[in-house]
Amino acid sequence: MSTTGLPEIVVDYDMCEANGVCEAIAPEVFELDDDEQLHIRARPDRDNEHRVRQAVASCPKVALSLRE
Ligand code: SF4
Repeated sequence: MSTTGLPEIVVDYDMCEANGVCEAIAPEVFELDDDEQLHIRARPDRDNEHRVRQAVASCPKVALSLRE
């Protein structure tokens, strides 16, 4: 577990197809740039942890996971 007790987001960039599902759910954390490259803008915090977990679970390519 990380020192904050919050999970870390792990992205499998080979699997991501840049469809924006995660960004739509938690845009302050997940961001697609103009080249359709996904960036993690921030670590999950207490306020958005639930949505981050929802975004990870909703990725249709299973490109996201959490390191607890
Ligand atoms: S939901 Fe999955 S496939 Fe879609 S942009 Fe996010 S990581 Fe990539």
